[in-house]
Amino acid sequence: MRYIEEFRDGDLARRLARAIAVEAAPERRYRLMEFCGGHTHAIFRYGVQDLLPDNVEMVHGPGCPVCVLPIGRLDMAIRIARRPEVILCSYGDMLRVPGSKRTSLLKAKAQGADVRMVYSAADAVRLAQANPRREIVFFAIGFETTTPPTAIALLQAIELDLRNFSVFCNHVLTPAAITNILESPDVRDIGTVPIDGFLGPAHVSVVIGSQPYEFFAEEYRKPVVIAGFEPLDVMQSILMLVRQLNDGRAEVENQYTRAVTRDGNPRAKALVAEMFELRRSFEWRGLGPVPYSALKIKDAYAGFDAEARFDEPFVAVRENRECKCPMILRGAAKPMDCKLFGRVCTPETPFGSCMVSAEGACAAYYAYGRRAEAMTA
Ligand code: SF4
Repeated sequence: MRYIEEFRDGDLARRLARAIAVEAAPERRYRLMEFCGGHTHAIFRYGVQDLLPDNVEMVHGPGCPVCVLPIGRLDMAIRIARRPEVILCSYGDMLRVPGSKRTSLLKAKAQGADVRMVYSAADAVRLAQANPRREIVFFAIGFETTTPPTAIALLQAIELDLRNFSVFCNHVLTPAAITNILESPDVRDIGTVPIDGFLGPAHVSVVIGSQPYEFFAEEYRKPVVIAGFEPLDVMQSILMLVRQLNDGRAEVENQYTRAVTRDGNPRAKALVAEMFELRRSFEWRGLGPVPYSALKIKDAYAGFDAEARFDEPFVAVRENRECKCPMILRGAAKPMDCKLFGRVCTPETPFGSCMVSAEGACAAYYAYGRRAEAMTA
């Protein structure tokens, strides 16, 4: 397949692996955080970690939108879905994530709530047009990649005067999460999560560009390489990070030049700025409350904001202590550190969000064979 096979070429992968092994200085360690769950899956699906020398370690980050949503926000969605007038719709992964007391949107559906899976925000708008007597609530999640489609859905609903459509907005922001990780005690004080550099997200950066990462490189002296999702993209980006660290540089480099520019997509950014504003604080699973790290619908469009319409409070919920998702999401643990992995917790019977999502670290370890190692540990 053109434009895919070139980025999965085995010979080139072996050459890149040799270059990394030769250039990575044996006396030092290179701890590189891949922020994005898409990269975590690429790394395990294509065996990238196995091609790296022992002193080049990938640390998994929080870039999985389903995983980082706190249980309290999911509980809000479940309470909204249980209202008789509501049809609540969201992406498939979100429906299976366990909320408090191990309930979920799918279980609420089994108990009679009208919960539906959609493939896009536009599907939710169509649902509102087709069901004028019902309240259609779109449970919107995701990083900067999925925010513009939600903005378009809101605009469509305004233009069509769809008074039965609203959005439960849970869009979060990548740069604020990276700052939080770099400021966290794990990284700064305790040193339990040493991070030498970042693989920057691919799709998010198509929207926001490479410019927002310049701050981390400069302020925290951490190199960032924006990487595509194919295995050769990832390996080339790792080599670029190794070279920066060897040279003592901390810059933003863009490996994914076929899609990412410094300024990103100005039309998408303008649309998002028109419909949304920053929340003062938003709780992330694993990171806790992070200032200015999420978006809310602007007051001018509050009529389409499900939080304003249904007035459901956010109630913080304590995490199940056995589930290591919060630590995994900030790079302080790996899925195999969790006793439940592969035993009690599997993709069919997920205990935590990291086992549900197609971008979750536990799901990646399970799908691509790390479960056998865990079971014998
Ligand atoms: S294996 Fe399951 S219980 Fe353990 S951290 Fe992952 S999602 Fe949580």
